[in-house]
Amino acid sequence: MVSKKRQPAALLLGLITVCASAQPKSEQAAIDVETLRHFQALVRMDTQSPPGNEKPAADYLAQVFEREGIFVRTFALEANRPNVVARLAGNGSKRPLLIMAHTDVVNVDPSKWQHPPFSAARDGGHIYGRGTVDDKDMVTAALMTMLRLRRNLVALDRDVIFLAESGEEGTTSVGIEFMVKNHFDTIDAEYCLAEGGNATRVAGDIRYAGVETAEKFPKGIDLIAHGVAGHGSVPLQTNPIARLARAITAVTEWQPPVVLNGTTRAYFERLAEIEEDPAIARRYRDLLSSDLQLVAAADAWLRANIPTQASMLRTSISPNIVQGGYRNNVIPSEARATLDVRMHPGENPDAFRAELERVIGDDQVDVVFNGFGERPAGVLSPVDDATFVAIERAIADHYGAPVVPMMSTGATDMAFLRAKGMRCFGIGPATDQEDGPLGYGAHSDQERILESELYRFVNFTYDLVVELAGADGAASAP
Ligand SMILES: [Zn+2]
Repeated sequence: MVSKKRQPAALLLGLITVCASAQPKSEQAAIDVETLRHFQALVRMDTQSPPGNEKPAADYLAQVFEREGIFVRTFALEANRPNVVARLAGNGSKRPLLIMAHTDVVNVDPSKWQHPPFSAARDGGHIYGRGTVDDKDMVTAALMTMLRLRRNLVALDRDVIFLAESGEEGTTSVGIEFMVKNHFDTIDAEYCLAEGGNATRVAGDIRYAGVETAEKFPKGIDLIAHGVAGHGSVPLQTNPIARLARAITAVTEWQPPVVLNGTTRAYFERLAEIEEDPAIARRYRDLLSSDLQLVAAADAWLRANIPTQASMLRTSISPNIVQGGYRNNVIPSEARATLDVRMHPGENPDAFRAELERVIGDDQVDVVFNGFGERPAGVLSPVDDATFVAIERAIADHYGAPVVPMMSTGATDMAFLRAKGMRCFGIGPATDQEDGPLGYGAHSDQERILESELYRFVNFTYDLVVELAGADGAASAP
C-alpha cells in the first residue's frame, strides 16, 4: 500500500469518496437509536474517579454482551472497579485486535453544570454530560462494533477483543496496570484502538483528523533547596527560598533541545499542507528545516502562540507547586518546588535529571523524582504500516478529511500496551475546535458531544474494525 504521507492535502481530498459503506436508511436509524440508548445509559451512571465506582457501567456492558451471546468476563482488583473483557473469535490466521475504552470519568462540580452532569441531556444537536467525549463515546463505539460484528456474522481473520477498563483517570493500578500485570493473556493483541485521536471541525467543516501514535511520559521532579534556619531579621545568603527561586527561574528559562520523531515530523509536515494561514504553515515548515535559526524562531513562536504544539517538540517542564516557610520571622531550612515534567519518547530520565542539576548549578538544591507519573516510557506506533493506512482510508471514507499522526502531550492507558509491544492508535469523534475555549471540551463543566458525530464515530469504528479484522471479503458485509 502506498503511503499518502507526502501528498498535498488537496490531492488527498480529491481521492476521497465520503461514506463508502453507508447503511440503508432504516437500518442506520435503528443503529442510531440503539447507540443513543447505550450511550445515554452509560453517561447516566455516575462513575466519577475518585472514588471510582465503575461497577454499574461494567455490569451493564457485561449484560449486553451476555444477552447477545458474546463471550464476556470481568476482572476486578477492587470489587466496585471491574474491568470488562469481551471477545469475538476469528479464524486465528492473524493476531487479535483490541478495542479499548475507559468507564471512569473525572469529577464534577454539579453547581457549574447547566445540564446536570449525569443527565445525558439532548439539546440543540448536542448530548451533555461527564464522559460524553471522555470516554463513554469510545465505550459506546466499541460496544456497538462488537454487537454489529456478531449480528452481521462478520468472518474474522483475527479475534476482536473489547476492553472497558476502570481507573484510567489517575488510578491505573485497578485498571490497565492490573490487566497488563495479571490478565495480559486476555487482552494481548497485535494492535489496539483507543481514545486519543479526534477529527477537528472548524466552523462546522471537518478540517483534518488526528490519530494518536505516540505520547509523552510523565515524570514528576521535585527541587528541594536547603539552607540554614534562622531569625528573619538577619537575612542569610543561604536562604533556601531565594535558592529555590533561582533554581525555578533557571529550569524554566532553559529550554531542553527540540527533538522530532517519526510522529511529530509527519504531524508538522502534514499540518504545513493543511494549514490555511500561510504564516503559520511557514512556521511548521521552518521547524522541519535544517537551519537551526529558523527552527529556534519557529519554536519560540509556537511557545508563545500554540503551547500544545510547542510541548510536542521537547521534554517540557512546568513548575506547579511551591512550598516553603511557615512564619514571617523564621528563615526555613528547606523549600520545595514540584515540576510536572513530560518526557519526550526516547528521553533518558536519569540523564535528564542530571542535566537539570547542571542547569541549576547549585549543590544545595536536590533534584529528585517524586513518583508522579507511573506510565512507562513512550514507544511510537508506526505511521507507515498497514494499520495506519487503513485508519487513513476509513477516515477518508467517513470524514472526507486528511489525517495527521499526533503525539499526545498527556498520557493514556495505551502507554502500558505500547510498552508491551502492542501497536496502538488513538481515534475519536469529530469535535468543534471552537468548543474547547468555550468550556465544552473533555473535563470541562459542560462536556458535550455532537449527536450526529457520535453516530458517525460509531459507523467509522465499525467499518475500521471490519477492515482490520475481517476475513477477505468481509469488508463488503452489511
Ligand atoms: Zn480519557
